[in-house]
Amino acid sequence: MDFEYSPRCMELREKLNHFMDEYIYPNERSYKDEVDRNGREKNNRWIPTKIIEDLKPIARSRGLWNLFLPKSDRAPEGLSNLDYAPLCEIMGRIPWAPEVFNCSAPDTGNMETIERYGSEEHKKQWLEPLLRGEMRSAFAMTEPDVASSDATNISTSIERVGDEYVINGTKWWTSGAGDPRCKIYILMGKTDGDAPRHSQQSMILVPSDTKGVTVVRPLSVFGYDDAPHGHCEVKFENVRVPASNMLLGEGRGFEIAQGRLGPLSKAYGASVSLSHAS
Ligand SMILES: Cc1cc2nc3c(=O)[nH]c(=O)nc-3n(C[C@H](O)[C@H](O)[C@H](O)COP(=O)(O)OP(=O)(O)OC[C@H]3O[C@@H](n4cnc5c(N)ncnc54)[C@H](O)[C@@H]3O)c2cc1C
Repeated sequence: MDFEYSPRCMELREKLNHFMDEYIYPNERSYKDEVDRNGREKNNRWIPTKIIEDLKPIARSRGLWNLFLPKSDRAPEGLSNLDYAPLCEIMGRIPWAPEVFNCSAPDTGNMETIERYGSEEHKKQWLEPLLRGEMRSAFAMTEPDVASSDATNISTSIERVGDEYVINGTKWWTSGAGDPRCKIYILMGKTDGDAPRHSQQSMILVPSDTKGVTVVRPLSVFGYDDAPHGHCEVKFENVRVPASNMLLGEGRGFEIAQGRLGPLSKAYGASVSLSHAS
């Protein structure tokens, strides 16, 4: 396989390196100061930073925006993984930098998921504002009560009741749930405990302001709470969402998880035909 950088990748790398030199590295200190100042003066370290919001339009105007998005109807010029990986290496040098380019986790994976598996309505309501960098999202899979590295263990229930699904369970390590702009969760839970092992799980969209959703607390990583982003414990108690919020269909959660983690950028659309992960 040829791992040489393509001319497009080289051009973007150069632009990105200039941007990092001009705007990101010199602001490392100011970013930390802004978060600390929000804590001191406003008693709230979870306020989105002005530095990132101010830099977003500049990045966008330079064509350094949504670089992660694989080729699709909404991104006909989408990059391949091979072109994108060297850009990630550059953006990833500073933890907050990827958001400036709308390339930060967990939004990138969530946007890809909605792009691939969401309905046109989901895309209008959630994907488009995410692509514009106007809101944020979270992915809720890991649970405190089970070994979640094997996601067949997850126990949050998603039960069909009439035209709705009712969700009950507790998640943790839900990255980004501490951000007030986090408007949508992609939640993985069980719809049918009697189905084959990898067909019991489903993924469903849960707006963060739905009754019964409670962000309990941010967890700490090596002693840091990662404000203003955060990795949170979130409770879902009798949370009701329309049945149309289900992605792809009941029992297809593993199939979606596989597509979410392994973007097939050049072969957009192929992932929907992947068989269940095992
Ligand atoms: C900074 C951060 C951000 C995260 N963001 C998210 C997020 O946005 N959304 C989300 O859903 N999750 C998130 N996670 C959670 C992460 O994906 C999980 O922590 C990970 O999948 C492991 O699951 P677990 O914590 O339940 O550990 P466990 O599954 O309990 O594993 C603990 C240890 O036990 C081992 N182990 C597990 N089962 C077995 C077995 N059967 N036999 C032998 N060994 C075993 C594992 O290898 C591991 O070493 C995040 C975690 C961190 C630290």
